[in-house]
Amino acid sequence: MALLQISEPGLSAAPHQHRLAVGIDLGTTNSLVATVRSSMPVVLPDEQGRALLPSVVYYPAEDKALVGFEAVPMQAKEPQDTLVSVKRFMGRGLKDIQTEHLPYRFVDAPGMVQFKLKCGQKSPVEVSADILRNLRERAEASLGGELVGAVITVPAYFDDAQRQATKDAARLAGLNVLRLLNEPTAAAIAYGLDNASEGTFVVYDLGGGTFDVSILRLTRGVFEVVATSGDSALGGDDFDHRIYCWLLEQAGLSQLGGRDSRLLQQKAREAKEALTDKLSTQIAAVLEDGSPINVELTQQTYFDLTRHLVDKTLMPVRKALKDAGLSTDQIDGVVMVGGSTRMPHVQHAVAQYFDKPPLNNLDPDKVVALGAAIQANVLAGNKSGDEWLLLDVIPLSLGLETMGGLVEKIIPRNSTIPTARAQEFTTFKDGQTAMRVHVLQGERELVKDCRSLATFDLKGIPPMAAGAARIRVTFQVDADGLLSVTAMEMTSGVQSSVVVKPAYGLTDDEITRMLKSSIEHAQDDMAARRLSEATVDATRLIEATQAALAEDGDALLDADERGIIDQALQQLSAAIAAQDEARIRQASDEASRVTDEFASRRMDASIRKALSGQKLSELG
Ligand code: ADP
Ligand code: MG
Repeated sequence: MALLQISEPGLSAAPHQHRLAVGIDLGTTNSLVATVRSSMPVVLPDEQGRALLPSVVYYPAEDKALVGFEAVPMQAKEPQDTLVSVKRFMGRGLKDIQTEHLPYRFVDAPGMVQFKLKCGQKSPVEVSADILRNLRERAEASLGGELVGAVITVPAYFDDAQRQATKDAARLAGLNVLRLLNEPTAAAIAYGLDNASEGTFVVYDLGGGTFDVSILRLTRGVFEVVATSGDSALGGDDFDHRIYCWLLEQAGLSQLGGRDSRLLQQKAREAKEALTDKLSTQIAAVLEDGSPINVELTQQTYFDLTRHLVDKTLMPVRKALKDAGLSTDQIDGVVMVGGSTRMPHVQHAVAQYFDKPPLNNLDPDKVVALGAAIQANVLAGNKSGDEWLLLDVIPLSLGLETMGGLVEKIIPRNSTIPTARAQEFTTFKDGQTAMRVHVLQGERELVKDCRSLATFDLKGIPPMAAGAARIRVTFQVDADGLLSVTAMEMTSGVQSSVVVKPAYGLTDDEITRMLKSSIEHAQDDMAARRLSEATVDATRLIEATQAALAEDGDALLDADERGIIDQALQQLSAAIAAQDEARIRQASDEASRVTDEFASRRMDASIRKALSGQKLSELG
């Protein structure tokens, strides 16, 4: 498919004027802000010199929210009012998320879930905005001026609702969003892979609570995300948890109180991080009842405890390769992203799987922010951006509903964005003046098995015979992955459109489930599609015949002939009611056969009518 150029109008800078722009990695566990200084991307630390900002926000009853490190200890004290991993809830409804093990008071609000807090109600967008505001203020203080804009990164699999929610959060935080950029693409940019002329790269991102793998293809300076996969419930936290369970076993404990449990989890995480650089570590703690814990954990034991988690990451890797139709030897490089990829056994497993050492010389928890900063610098006009062309893919096909509850796919899954595709449709009934456009996402053939994104009406179609109107429906997905749909009646120019802001996002589990079911149900779907198409054709035949009978039946048919046609139509209606494809096709053929003569008589009659009053000589 053709590659579309991304242009950023109005962003060319005056010469010698450096415009302040930042890249922000809005992470599930940690967030960061970076910029380009003297041609070098650098992370901007806080006043204490810390680069990472924990993505944690605590809301007291009245005072200002605490963000980052200050909020972390509040998790233990006031869990209901201390929000962590809020990224998981962006653009999600209550039914889309798992709430069992979470301390929050969720409120089911239209569009997106909200949290009930002592200070009132907050949406994930507002919480993310508080994190982003903190980073904006950090950047402005450190750069000494107002920002022109920011590039904010999102996981490659984020759908429309999640991207929109991220943009809204940025706007709320007073940031001008230059672009949303996919995290793996940002990491690849940080490694300068965009300067390599050609190649296929894997981005392996193991963070605090999520694992994402993406395959990027680079051709003549153009990045394309060719496949993505992952596990939304696998990350550094699971490694902590394994140590925690091992600790309980060692100490002969089964159930712990809240405070003790949090203490040991914290110890587990510290031990894990220590074992990245050391062969052994001592874990010491005193429980609330005064009993001490003091055990040694060796790197080897830790590796054995968590090897299955490392292996688990290779499943989505395999799947992404399969989706992209690639084998490991076709991969030119593997980029390591996320704090958890520091762990030696993760590095080792990835090196072994791909049979080459991974790219890991940049800090894995900073690469995404660094890449975003490089991109922001270009978009702000500080550097010629001609060579910049970033392509991403849409995770599930986009299409619209056609007659019979079928989905016509307009943009297939894994199409690169930005993209625009158009298809022509027509009216179903004579004199139809309005058409409902129903936009769907998913791989299945039937509307009921796909996800409804939006509906809108195209009104004011000039009345015409069924099938005469030409309605062009255009789907456009912009560089941020946001969809807009336009419908236009070509003869009259009547137009209607919608920017799709779906009320709910798709969880990646849901995406996986939808993909899986599309494969499992491919056979059923084909049968369902054939039945539905036969029904639509047959209904159209009945309606057209009835219209013709009403007009000319009395004049052109005798009672017997009329009886035969009526009976054929009844048979056909019965076949439709029975939803039996073979019977519908047979009855349709029969109805066509018995109306043939009637149709040709109508044709003769209309020609006679058209010719009446004309002389033969005028018919040259
Ligand atoms: P996210 O992308 O989810 O915001 P990060 O990329 O910041 O997350 O990764 C956070 C995870 O990285 C945490 O689980 C943390 O314990 C882990 N981590 C950070 N440093 C190390 C280290 N030295 N060894 C092992 N794990 C680490
Ligand atoms: Mg991350």
